[in-house]
Amino acid sequence: MSRTKPDSRLRLGRCATGLGLFARVPFRAGDRVIEYTGDRISGEEADRRGGRYLFHVDADRAIDATGREHLARYVNHACRPNCEARAVGRRIFIYAKRAIEPGDELTYHYGRVYFRAFIAPAGCRCRTCTRRAERAAGAAPSRGGSR
Ligand SMILES: [Zn+2]
Repeated sequence: MSRTKPDSRLRLGRCATGLGLFARVPFRAGDRVIEYTGDRISGEEADRRGGRYLFHVDADRAIDATGREHLARYVNHACRPNCEARAVGRRIFIYAKRAIEPGDELTYHYGRVYFRAFIAPAGCRCRTCTRRAERAAGAAPSRGGSR
């Protein structure tokens, strides 16, 4: 079993949607930030288990990061993220897409299938979508004024 070792470059912290993973050090675009570790299971087993912490490597393989020791599961979704997940052989790593400063929350795009299944129903709460919603609310004509 691959387990995530404590990583002094990263820390868990509070964010708008619960817990998130934050940078403690700067990363440059292209830097490998963390591996997505978890139980390596078949696509069939993934369908049976379900859940929010499945990473589908391809049609036949998935990684289930349900265990809390798997730190990469705390990297939240964002529609305009600062990281991206890439397969290297059978492993999944999360890389910096652009420069990341200490204190920045790490995010990557979870993909359209996951987005539709888990995020869209409740509404995406990433920074981009939250700002868009706030702008839309601010721009809406007021109705009736004060009560
Ligand atoms: Zn979003």
